[in-house]
Amino acid sequence: MTTYTNFTVETDADNIALVTWDMPGKSMNVFTEEVMDELNAIVEETSADTTLKGVVITSGKSTFSGGADLSMIKSMFTFYNEENAKDPAAAAQKLFDLVGQMTGLFRKLETSGKPWVSAINGTCMGGAFEMSLACHGRVVSSSKSVKIALPEVKVGIFPGAGGTQRISRLTDAQSALQMMTTGQSLTGARAKAMNLVHQVVEPDQLIIAAKQMIKDGLKSVAPWDEKGFKVPGGGIWTPASAQLWPAAPAILRRETAGNYPAALAILKCVYEGLQVPFDTGLKIEQRYFTQVLQSTEAFSMIRSLFISMQELGKGARRPAGIPKAELKHVGIVGAGFMGGAIAYVTAAAGIRVTLIDRDIEAATKGKSHSETLVKDSIGKGRLTQEEAAALLGNITPSAAYADLGDADLVIEAVFEDREVKKAVIEAVEAILPETAIFASNTSTLPITGLAKNSKRPDQFIGIHFFSPVEKMMLTEVITGKETGDRALAVALDFVAAIKKTPIVVNDTRGFYVNRCVFRYIHEAYDMLIEGVPAAMIENAAKMAGMPVGPLSLNDEVAIDLSQKILKASVADLGPAAVAPEHMKLINRMVDELDRRGRKNGKGFYDYPAKPAKKSLWPGLKEFYPQKQASEVDVTVLKQRLLVTIALEAARTMEEGIVTDPREADVGSILGFGFAPYTGGTLSYIDGMGVKAFVALCKKLATAYGDHFKPTALLKDMAAKGETFYGRFDPYGKKQAA
Ligand code: NAD
Repeated sequence: MTTYTNFTVETDADNIALVTWDMPGKSMNVFTEEVMDELNAIVEETSADTTLKGVVITSGKSTFSGGADLSMIKSMFTFYNEENAKDPAAAAQKLFDLVGQMTGLFRKLETSGKPWVSAINGTCMGGAFEMSLACHGRVVSSSKSVKIALPEVKVGIFPGAGGTQRISRLTDAQSALQMMTTGQSLTGARAKAMNLVHQVVEPDQLIIAAKQMIKDGLKSVAPWDEKGFKVPGGGIWTPASAQLWPAAPAILRRETAGNYPAALAILKCVYEGLQVPFDTGLKIEQRYFTQVLQSTEAFSMIRSLFISMQELGKGARRPAGIPKAELKHVGIVGAGFMGGAIAYVTAAAGIRVTLIDRDIEAATKGKSHSETLVKDSIGKGRLTQEEAAALLGNITPSAAYADLGDADLVIEAVFEDREVKKAVIEAVEAILPETAIFASNTSTLPITGLAKNSKRPDQFIGIHFFSPVEKMMLTEVITGKETGDRALAVALDFVAAIKKTPIVVNDTRGFYVNRCVFRYIHEAYDMLIEGVPAAMIENAAKMAGMPVGPLSLNDEVAIDLSQKILKASVADLGPAAVAPEHMKLINRMVDELDRRGRKNGKGFYDYPAKPAKKSLWPGLKEFYPQKQASEVDVTVLKQRLLVTIALEAARTMEEGIVTDPREADVGSILGFGFAPYTGGTLSYIDGMGVKAFVALCKKLATAYGDHFKPTALLKDMAAKGETFYGRFDPYGKKQAA
């Protein structure tokens, strides 16, 4: 047998070949050009070997594979754009051929004449599961870490290597659509119940069971290549399908508001594919995949949600030349709502935590948050008793700063009060080792100002978490004027250890995320004041692709917190910093009506006792004369909500607060769910073109106020035909550095 870089092939005494996929120097197997070439050679070699009874393919890593290397798909965009500029028709044909490569390879495996069994030992995603579907047998390990999914839709594409055709020929159409349009993960047991895999076995039985399928005479012919094959449920022209198909596009529209071309393409592939022979179905899938790949949505989503997120996670912004910090002991001061949760994520990363509050009772109460979360995880089978005990054992509540004598990093999460924070900084620094870093989790106080209380401001930084800390993937790392490179490196090493994605921003009021969030909420105040019915505002936001309406979000954040921030803006920047009508609205909600948001059960919504659902508070209608729905243009509402946020993001770039467009994009999606199909705030602008964006801003400024006026930077970029990724090229900068 030939030797391969990414695979080993061993044939046993029963003449069954075991192909083990184990890419050197990678933590996870992925499909690259080289992997595809090697797999192609293996298919040819094994099918030519007349003595061979069959092939089992598995992984040498703890996971099976993450699927296609999306950088490979990103390079298709570059290729297509270059070709398209020369000859659009030829470019489309070339893209179509390129897209067909993986489909063709898997079809070749499926029809090679040898029975193939995929032995799925760990998580198996996307293209890797599509390859497994082309195998004649699929055996899955029962280990709880195994997840199976076709998650492509989450990055703007869809299973385009035969997945839509094979899944819909193995399971009923409704389950197939649900799996692919949501990208949901399946356990082995669920995949078996859906008829997508043949067996679920103990991990140590995996290869034995896979080989046994071949010994038991597994056919080398896929069900759909057999004469008389019938689609599960009978196909499209059945009474059951007559229930499903007319509703399916409507349900999809309800879920996605028509913003995701890839999700709709899945419906089309299944609906059209099930009416034709299998190979024609593959061609239909290839056509739609080629079409989706040419969409702005696919391009922007892959760039932000995969490539950039990965790059930021791997420390794209980490200063070079500073050794990686191995954090052994982290101190957290302030064991309240945030401190308790930060302690949990730190302990879960295996780091020892000292959790300090004003007295031991308060500190112990802070730890109880972790106890609740751990109990919940045990109940859901996510943690064993031992893992839970180890996690909780990492957290020591305390009321003594002396316990921080050997801490590598201290994060303060005490009250949002300059004086309280000053006292804590001084007390902690009196104990802290010379080399340790001090971080503040403040949400509104500039880091440079807080650092004035520090004896070593170069070792002072902001690490801003989002609530709920255990769920939110983003952290903002804020550098003050004097913050040094080592503080930044340690902060980023910490964020990486707790498996969150960091964005690095310079010091400003509200940093990046909250500046954008408050623009969103303030635009909704404007709409309320104009008399737009609240329900229309909330629905327009959802239709624009936002996960939570602005009024609902304000309830979550707390309306009295908004009031505090508005008042602080007036105090610090003067009365012109806040629209008087906004102040009036919020004062009325908080001071007159005690409507503070979800936390006191009444805000823009009413929150009745469960199981009843929250509903918009009818009293809001009495505040302003209400417009009729017919007088309001929903398209304009959608534009206003997205444009006001994107403009704020552009301002942060112009001011040098955010310096890398990847961070603005990723931060906006992970921080507040900015319409993911756009790829984030700046990709939204680049996607429509800066010129078109500036024109839209001007139109909105005329009708709705100066806050929509395009900035000098945007006008300059529009005149020069630039994009954010061109002007602030994150890769160019790195190369230059
Ligand atoms: P919180 O009131 O729930 O907790 C603050 C804790 O600090 C309390 O347990 C209090 O006893 C303790 N504390 C106060 N003074 C102390 C001292 N001198 N020494 C030790 N402990 C002391 O507040 P929170 O919501 O957790 O906010 C904490 C910080 O995090 C604030 O700076 C806030 O702006 C920031 N933040 C909050 C959120 C949020 O969603 N709540 C989000 C990001 C950042």
